[in-house]
Amino acid sequence: MTKPTILTGDRTTGPLHIGHYAGSLHNRLRFQDSHEQFLLLADSQALTDNAHDPDKVRRSVIEVTLDYLAVGIDPAKTTICLQSHLPALAELSMLYLNFVTVARLERNPTIKDEIRARGFGRDIPAGFLCYPAAQAADITAFKATIVPVGEDQAPLIEQTNEIVRRINATAGRPILPEAQAVIPQSGRLPGVDGKAKMSKSGGNAIALSASPDAISAAVRAMFTDPNHLRVEDPGHVQGNVVFTYLDAFDEDRAGLESLKAQYRRGGLGDGRIKRRLEGILQALIAPIRERRAQLAEDPAYVVDVIRRGTEKARNRTEATKREVVQGLGLFML
Ligand code: ATP
Ligand code: MG
Repeated sequence: MTKPTILTGDRTTGPLHIGHYAGSLHNRLRFQDSHEQFLLLADSQALTDNAHDPDKVRRSVIEVTLDYLAVGIDPAKTTICLQSHLPALAELSMLYLNFVTVARLERNPTIKDEIRARGFGRDIPAGFLCYPAAQAADITAFKATIVPVGEDQAPLIEQTNEIVRRINATAGRPILPEAQAVIPQSGRLPGVDGKAKMSKSGGNAIALSASPDAISAAVRAMFTDPNHLRVEDPGHVQGNVVFTYLDAFDEDRAGLESLKAQYRRGGLGDGRIKRRLEGILQALIAPIRERRAQLAEDPAYVVDVIRRGTEKARNRTEATKREVVQGLGLFML
């Protein structure tokens, strides 16, 4: 039996953070044996809203790969590949753009939110507006049937499947499989500033490569309950970032529940819950940081991992592109 194929990946916009650990990396480690897994270093997609800073996009290719390897992604099991070096992805994107309308792209709820969040106004880079078609190309080029994404990304998978159905209808046979979004139950980790999402570009993240001092400083500055002024005051657990992070990373569930009860009643200071969280995050990040530092001493190895993965992905994506070109009835050479 062949294993089901997973495509997932990250925009190369900076080092990965603990939100990625809780939301995606954890699952990717689990899927390594049971699935055929491709991790796409999405540098072309990163450029759609970072054209002013290609240096960052380039540097982050290595940063993200170091994070993958440091958390335990094994290149012998999972293929790590570079989007900009897989021409079939760009070629499929161009073809797919003819199977989606501008109005449909503008109506995509993810795109609408992201346009607002980035403050593009009317100056939307064309590449940004069209990235759902490029994402459809990424997913289908690997014939992935499972795409683990955050809940905000679900409309992109819906859009991918619309394109798949149009291509298959035009071809008159099912060339491409539909993809299923797998959304982690843990939801999205908020930023240290209390904003709805921790993000690389938001300046509100704790990186998996963060130094002990950076972790301390981030936890100390963390948002709690603004009305919890004195230790004896009753406090809110809901919406309290420290508790949200404890929910995500504290394995002593019973201990955590009794702390929450004490906090709600009053008599538990922010200092104590922050020290607990800091201890947990230091313990989580220390081995990742150590392994990452070792790997960073051998950049040639890291580049080689990307090169070999991209080579493997090239054959696969090229084959799909030819099937699509042929299926659409275009001229074949
Ligand atoms: P950027 O700010 O450049 O958009 P990002 O931090 O949002 O970066 P992405 O590369 O856009 O990261 O996201 C990669 C994957 O990680 C997606 O599947 C996304 O849903 C997931 N992810 C990103 N941020 C979080 C978070 N805070 N909590 C859980 N999952 C997350
Ligand atoms: Mg993002």
